Amino acid sequence: MTTSTSPETGALPAQEAPIDAADGHGKLFRDARNRLNKAIQYFPISPDVEEQLKYPKSSLAVSVVIRMDNGSRRAFKGFRVRYDDSRGPTKGGIRYHQSVNLDEVMALAFWMTFKCAVVGVPYGGAKGGICVDTKELSKTELERLSRTYIEQIADMIGPEVDIPAPDMYTNEMVMGWMADQYNRIKRGKYPGVITGKPLALGGSLGRTDATGRGGVNVLRRLEEHLQIIPEKTTVAVQGFGNVGYHCARLLHDAGYKIVAISNSEGGIYDPSGINPYPMKEWEQTHKEVLAGGPTLGGKHQVISNEDLLKLPVDVLVPAALENQITINNAHEIQARIILELANGPTTTGADVILEQKGITVIPDILANAGGVTVSYFEWTQNQTGYYWEVEEVNDRLQKIMEKAAVNVWQTMKEHKCDMRTAAYIEALKKLSEAIEAHGTRYYFNLP
Ligand code: NAD
Repeated sequence: MTTSTSPETGALPAQEAPIDAADGHGKLFRDARNRLNKAIQYFPISPDVEEQLKYPKSSLAVSVVIRMDNGSRRAFKGFRVRYDDSRGPTKGGIRYHQSVNLDEVMALAFWMTFKCAVVGVPYGGAKGGICVDTKELSKTELERLSRTYIEQIADMIGPEVDIPAPDMYTNEMVMGWMADQYNRIKRGKYPGVITGKPLALGGSLGRTDATGRGGVNVLRRLEEHLQIIPEKTTVAVQGFGNVGYHCARLLHDAGYKIVAISNSEGGIYDPSGINPYPMKEWEQTHKEVLAGGPTLGGKHQVISNEDLLKLPVDVLVPAALENQITINNAHEIQARIILELANGPTTTGADVILEQKGITVIPDILANAGGVTVSYFEWTQNQTGYYWEVEEVNDRLQKIMEKAAVNVWQTMKEHKCDMRTAAYIEALKKLSEAIEAHGTRYYFNLP
């Protein structure tokens, strides 16, 4: 059987049992599947539903070959995975990063499936990505890369089939190029094929800050349960990109004290506090180096991303990459609440340690679902041709995020489990209903 030799997942051998290492699946995907296996122990599902959710519906690996500015050709590995479409067209972002691989994209597509179900948006899960360091490309090379990738996956996506969106190191501009390329290929206007587009191309107001905002909606709705008084609550944010920045600024606006932030160049810590607004301006004009920026105390300590995770704060917000909190550092986490805005920042082995330490983990599939929720609003606006005011977008987002937060909290109490397992149970309820509505062996009354 599977990864009994892995120290990371070895802590939960019983939960790994159903997964076969011989299937060629990588560690991240198998780790992701462990969460489902744990939830099934609390909320048994029919064997048919389990079978349906076992593997991705389809996976595509492509070579994205482009001409570089110096005239040479270069090939990049690209992927698109659709995990499950029982609840609707599949949906999921496209990531540009040097560590992108099929295992990671599969895990991300798996998480998207459960994320969409937790908040009840009518989508299945998908994900895509290109293995590339965007800092090495010019803007014109980046455009050619994005357009060529869409040419390669055009047959797999579409407004009613699979709808990409931004993720790490992709943004509105990239989505605009991609939507335009799809329209050229299909010789029509299909704004609903991609979300996170520029407003001028059918984007939605409120999409840019939706993931950070949704995470803040969840945390604020649970303040009473978590005994949070914003003015007395310190926060460290790992990752100061789209998600981390908007979360930090909205928490700052709500009275929380941001004391540490970091990005790929490292981080800073000032117990007197950090105002995210001027700090973002500083970052943009100082080649992303945060050190020396205008913190509220005037003086700050320069720290690494690893140091940031271990700071004595109330709330830790991982908003960068996966696998940041592992069995190697979970013992040293001092925060009492972790708001997971990144996808998969905590491994299953670390979950066990965090639970033993009494740390509440607000899981990614709930905490960062604001992005896909407003992507759903964008798609709805594209399909109807009627566009909403930002207040309407934010109000509807808040309602959905708060409802999901309360449901997960109640399920956690009911099943006496951790919050991540409760989120998976909530998702499983909706996925089971949809899969069973297509017919199972019980429905057909077969042995
Ligand atoms: P982004 O590209 O806008 O920002 C990424 C940030 O992480 C940057 O500040 C970058 O410097 C930093 N970073 C990169 N490597 C790092 C490292 N090793 N340590 C610390 N920081 C590092 O990306 P984003 O859209 O903000 O996405 C961040 C996370 O949120 C990802 O895990 C993504 O999957 C997840 N997420 C994003 C969305 C969305 O709508 N953008 C939705 C759901 C989840």
